[in-house]
Amino acid sequence: MAKIIDGKAISAQMRVEISERCAEYVARTGTKPGLAVIIVGDDPASKVYVRNKKLACEQVGFYSEEIALPAETDMDSLRSVIERLNADDKIHGILVQLPLPPQLDEGEVIMMIDPRKDVDAFHPANVGRVMSGGYTFVPCTPAGVMELLKRSGVDIAGRECVVVGRSNIVGKPMAMLLLEANGTVTVCHSRTRDLAEVCRRADILVSAVGKPHFITADMVKPGAVVIDVGINRLPNGKLAGDVDFDAVEPIASYITPVPGGVGPMTITMLLRNTLTAAEN
Ligand code: NDP
Repeated sequence: MAKIIDGKAISAQMRVEISERCAEYVARTGTKPGLAVIIVGDDPASKVYVRNKKLACEQVGFYSEEIALPAETDMDSLRSVIERLNADDKIHGILVQLPLPPQLDEGEVIMMIDPRKDVDAFHPANVGRVMSGGYTFVPCTPAGVMELLKRSGVDIAGRECVVVGRSNIVGKPMAMLLLEANGTVTVCHSRTRDLAEVCRRADILVSAVGKPHFITADMVKPGAVVIDVGINRLPNGKLAGDVDFDAVEPIASYITPVPGGVGPMTITMLLRNTLTAAEN
């Protein structure tokens, strides 16, 4: 039987710590840490994410601004909004909710954000710093996974870590963070041969694929730590991760559930990045 890593509880504990740090910041500076979230268009899922981010900011005592722009917004209009926020002393973190409508080039939009305010850590300057060390921000989801491992007392140094998925926002930075923590890291993707055999080597297995029940029990070494980043909507409307939880949980040593594992950590790490940006 695995120990369940309770992302909800760890996230709640971290938010208390962030509120305390925020109160110290406010007492010291007379201003609040500020986050601006830009949303373009009216994608319902994006609206929910933005609302949750705003609520989370209020909970911990931050100032927050939501800038809702019409779906037909062009690059020049978006640039002028971002430039205004780059220059605004009340705003320490700027986040552009993705995906963007097709006329807007995501890569170019991210480049418009001042890297010191890029709390998603998607700007190439911040991506580079994750590679070379000495970073200020790390993308929120892999940062959340590292915090779950740390707070659960999982040792990484010297252990075999396998990351399934190589996206820029999860898989790649996840691999870099595990490497920095002295793990021996393998990154898998859709062209990996004999994925099950590679996964079975893992002491720490992180799945960020986006396919329900993708990681089956035969892919997991007994006693492995299994971290499920996947969020998948099943036909019955329920959420599921990438891991076949019922089959894997009996053989793992630690496992994250979905929902309630990695998911709650992502916004918490956004709050932490915003506070760090303010403190800097
Ligand atoms: P992407 O679709 O960008 O990446 C998926 C990765 O999985 C790719 O690298 C792909 O390989 C790999 N993959 C796909 N099929 C296979 C296969 N058969 N075998 C091995 N590898 C495969 O997704 P994201 O990284 O953005 O997200 C991954 C999951 O995490 C999603 O479910 C997403 O919803 C969730 N997520 C959760 C967050 C949270 O807060 N908990 C935050 C962000 C994401 P290739 O590169 O070769 O195509």
